[in-house]
Amino acid sequence: MADLEYSLLAEFYEKIESTSSRLAMTDLLVGLFRKTPPEVIDKLVYLTRGVLGPDYEAPELGVAEKLALKAVAQALGVGQKEVDEAYKKLGDIGLVVEELMNKRKPSSLLDFFGGASISSKPLTVGRVYDSLVNIAKATGPGAQDTKITILVSLLKDAKPKEARYLLRAVTGKLRLGVADMTIIDALSAAFAGSKAMKPVIERAYNVHPDLGYIAKVLAERGLEGIKEVKVTVGIPVKPMLAERLNDPEEILRKLGGSCLVEYKYDGERVQAHKKGDNVYLFSRRLENITSHYPDVVEMVRENVKAEEAVLEGEIVALNPDTGEMLPFQELMHRRRKYDVEEAMEAYPVAVFPFDILYVNGESLLDLPLPERKKRLAEVIREGDRFRLARFTVASSAEEILKFFEEAVSEGCEGVMCKSQSPDSIYQMGARGWLWVKFKRDYRYEMTDTVDLVVVGAFYGRGKRAGTYGALLMAAYSPEEDVFKTVCKVGSGFSDEDLAQLPKLLEPYRIDHRHPRVVSRMEADVWFVPAVVLEVIGAEITLSPMHTCALGRIRPEAGLAIRFPRFTGRYRVDKKPEDATTEEELIEIYKLQRKVALPKAPVEAA
Ligand code: ATP
Repeated sequence: MADLEYSLLAEFYEKIESTSSRLAMTDLLVGLFRKTPPEVIDKLVYLTRGVLGPDYEAPELGVAEKLALKAVAQALGVGQKEVDEAYKKLGDIGLVVEELMNKRKPSSLLDFFGGASISSKPLTVGRVYDSLVNIAKATGPGAQDTKITILVSLLKDAKPKEARYLLRAVTGKLRLGVADMTIIDALSAAFAGSKAMKPVIERAYNVHPDLGYIAKVLAERGLEGIKEVKVTVGIPVKPMLAERLNDPEEILRKLGGSCLVEYKYDGERVQAHKKGDNVYLFSRRLENITSHYPDVVEMVRENVKAEEAVLEGEIVALNPDTGEMLPFQELMHRRRKYDVEEAMEAYPVAVFPFDILYVNGESLLDLPLPERKKRLAEVIREGDRFRLARFTVASSAEEILKFFEEAVSEGCEGVMCKSQSPDSIYQMGARGWLWVKFKRDYRYEMTDTVDLVVVGAFYGRGKRAGTYGALLMAAYSPEEDVFKTVCKVGSGFSDEDLAQLPKLLEPYRIDHRHPRVVSRMEADVWFVPAVVLEVIGAEITLSPMHTCALGRIRPEAGLAIRFPRFTGRYRVDKKPEDATTEEELIEIYKLQRKVALPKAPVEAA
């Protein structure tokens, strides 16, 4: 098979390291690409990016330095101490091996000229790449020895400069800083005649974000081949990203006077690919996260009716007892702390699909959003934990704000406002004005507890089947002598509390809403207002779901306690009329301390 000498690549790396101009870097790459046989151009691209494949399925490079130093000593026949000391001095394993090789006395004429041993075969890009893959893939007992053996055999055939880059590559330290866009520029110039074809190549890269593959298609089949690159089940598409604004008026102006407003769930974005029974899940950064969410895999298998589909949604952690949404941190906690099986119990998740990119051989990328939404609804069978992302259509700031408040009070981060215009395509890999996120940049902190009256209850599920999952809580309005709802509380109850709740509440149970209770929610069970519990929450927010202070702060919005928790104190000393009042809640709302929200946490590896 046609191949390229690794020494050419090493020389190229050396030149790249000494250039500070991006243009010069691109030109060097163009020259290299032109010399490279198409058969190995993918491997050359991976090696140059310092990886062994596309981000979504590359075997992990990164042999421990200690192991690599051992291989150096063995390959060069030098004492380990000398190698380790050189490393201490130079701090770069590449330079260590190069220097030691240069110092070595030539033992033959061939050695003198080539720097490698007599029986050596020159290193090629193909061989280096394949060997690095074998090193990365070696696992289990004996893996260390296998890695060393492969590395030693490469080093025996390497010239000093080649060894420098080989060692950096194998330890994951080859940092040339060649950006993907520079590679695309160079590919465009080398194989498409000029840089003008860059958008076509970029599009193919967004559909199939594997630069090795793109380079190979271009080198082998030119632009015609590139134009045929399509969405493929199992290969993640680069996700569409949103701009951000904090003013609903401005959002509407940007989006042409009306838009689709959707809950912005506080979870992890997922791109789900389905082909028959096979399901693959990819993260926002295109990592394969299938093994993290066997429950989501099952849901996609069950609830996506199409044989083949690619859709996007948000995975959100739920409170297992109440089914309410939990913040993003909980989901990350699930990932870090538990093994997958335990995590599924402790932190069940729901999936909220919001877009569809492909179905049964047809790409939907260029359809406007309203049509994609229609297609999404057609292929989805909604279930308890697999529901279409909630959205509405808004044409006034007031409508956006109202939906925003509802979203926040349900545990969301805010809303996504999305263009519905004829050109509202799925804009892969780009941050643009077709989607605008509207989030809060601060929240308020609730510092004190409140005493609320139990006016209703919702049946529990899972572990809480047979008892109540959450209680509907209300504040008292002395002026009107009614109880107005402010939250559903499901957290903070001990097993003992849970066991005795139905008994405790039984005497007050009635089969309809009590006339002194004002509620917009339909509880499963209603009570005569009697039992008072102490509750604390993260903050008090505006919400269209609750009736406390409805219309007092903003039209059509009441007050709600976000992430409420029972403190464990039954206020048996209080009559329902002694509970926290509507006026007091308004005061607490106004006095809340404003706290800056932390920056979005970095996705856990
Ligand atoms: P970005 O993804 O824009 O770089 P980021 O990672 O900081 O920014 P956010 O600013 O929170 O994330 O906003 C974008 C993210 O919101 C999406 O990547 C997606 O995970 C999430 N999201 C939640 N609900 C939706 C929705 N309905 N539509 C689109 N994205 C949503």
